[in-house]
Amino acid sequence: MPDIDIQHRRVGVIMLHGSCSMSCLFCITENSITEMSPEQVKTILKLMKEQEMESVVFGGGEPLQWNHSLSDSIKLAKSMRLHTQVGTNGVGLNPDVIQNLNADRYVLPMDSINPQIHNYLRGGFRKHYDIIKKRLRYLTEIGVPFTISTVVCRINLDMLNEITAFLLHLWEKGARIHAWHLYRFLPMGRGGLKNASMLHITKDEYFEKTEEIKQRGMPFLVYRRPNMQLSKEVDFFWAEAGEVKVGSQVWEKKNSTYCLCE
Ligand code: SF4
Repeated sequence: MPDIDIQHRRVGVIMLHGSCSMSCLFCITENSITEMSPEQVKTILKLMKEQEMESVVFGGGEPLQWNHSLSDSIKLAKSMRLHTQVGTNGVGLNPDVIQNLNADRYVLPMDSINPQIHNYLRGGFRKHYDIIKKRLRYLTEIGVPFTISTVVCRINLDMLNEITAFLLHLWEKGARIHAWHLYRFLPMGRGGLKNASMLHITKDEYFEKTEEIKQRGMPFLVYRRPNMQLSKEVDFFWAEAGEVKVGSQVWEKKNSTYCLCE
């Protein structure tokens, strides 16, 4: 583990591997991310605890496609009194899996409430929008909290109000929405780089549209992330060629990327 200062970060994102069965147009995951072993995950969790971090997000790639037991790692994190989250594309998150994982919170994507547009952005996965709605309905029914993530890009820039209305409706139905993350599209990674000319938005466009949402005073947290790789509160852990890397400091230097499916 490199000697990097991660003090003052509250949340650690563990990118278990880079693989994913989806191919979203804005995916910023790099193919260079390799699979972590459960032992490496354990070492990271211990480090997070020593650094007094509070919460761990298991992400990828797609964490539900990790070749090891995610539920064991969640159990371990919980035994260390870390708050646990799973950032997933939702495809594999059926009721049995939710019961088995028993995470404290889930992070799920919603990029438009127009199914065609959402599914188009999600790489042409035609049923993805329906799957997400089903997952959100179920989490609402069983009272498990979730966070929604949206990648704001050229195609959905003018559709954020519709997502706002949808989330407010869910909230009124009793959904325990913890937060809504609004990520600005970044032209990098295996999807984002390829589709940059179609999806790119300026920082000004991003701030103008997301400010409208902030001004509405939503009943849950709304986080703006103009650069999803950098956050004062979050640090990232991933493996490359079997070696664990940590920290946005390394990211900045290496221009590496992550995906929370968020
Ligand atoms: S954005 Fe997430 S769900 Fe989409 S391809 Fe990348 S890792 Fe998979």
